[in-house]
Amino acid sequence: MKENILLIEDEQALQSTLSLRLRGEGYTVDTASDGTEGFEKATTSPFDLIILDIMLPDRSGLDVCRDIRQAGLATPSLFLTARSQTTDKVVGLKLGADDYVTKPFKAAELIARVEVLLRRVPIRSGHGVHRFGSIQVDVRRSEVTRNGKPVALSAREFQLLRYFIERAGSTIPRGELLRSIWGYDEDTLTRTVDMHVASLREKLEENPKHPELIVTVAGVGYKFLGSRSF
Ligand code: CA
Repeated sequence: MKENILLIEDEQALQSTLSLRLRGEGYTVDTASDGTEGFEKATTSPFDLIILDIMLPDRSGLDVCRDIRQAGLATPSLFLTARSQTTDKVVGLKLGADDYVTKPFKAAELIARVEVLLRRVPIRSGHGVHRFGSIQVDVRRSEVTRNGKPVALSAREFQLLRYFIERAGSTIPRGELLRSIWGYDEDTLTRTVDMHVASLREKLEENPKHPELIVTVAGVGYKFLGSRSF
């Protein structure tokens, strides 16, 4: 199954070129030419990845990314930036972007980044909806709700949650999470994993200090308990 990509880019020539290249790689591509249209598409249809330009005519790609995250969608996102927009890159990554490429770039470079972002967590749970307690996770839509209200997860937090759900009941070493979700070598920055787990607990656990969903396995890693899919 090839993934759906939403491309938000106002430069028509670039939009056409990139769409063509991505379709050539077998992806399904939908496009938007401004931020408003992009946000509407991103929040009404499920996408596996969003590629968005920062400089858009109406609202910036940064605003679009923030609004998508606030709507509770954790769809991986890749920014297209101009060389001068260093600050925007930092802001973008804080707002929940997963990666960026700097214009001008070769299409092959973009394709490579796309593959990395889509490969990080293989979609094994398909279009499953998972429920545990007051939490519902719609994998296909990258959407998490708690008591029916959207929960804003970063794309990385969502990937981590999905990884846990797919391996519910198994102890997962920190090193495996680092390699699978972040792509780092083992033994680097394991604290990164702990920080993301802490953040997930804050957002999902009834009592984050006494977690019941994502429990710590001392000296090893974590175990996810209690997912029922249907
Ligand atoms: Ca632009």
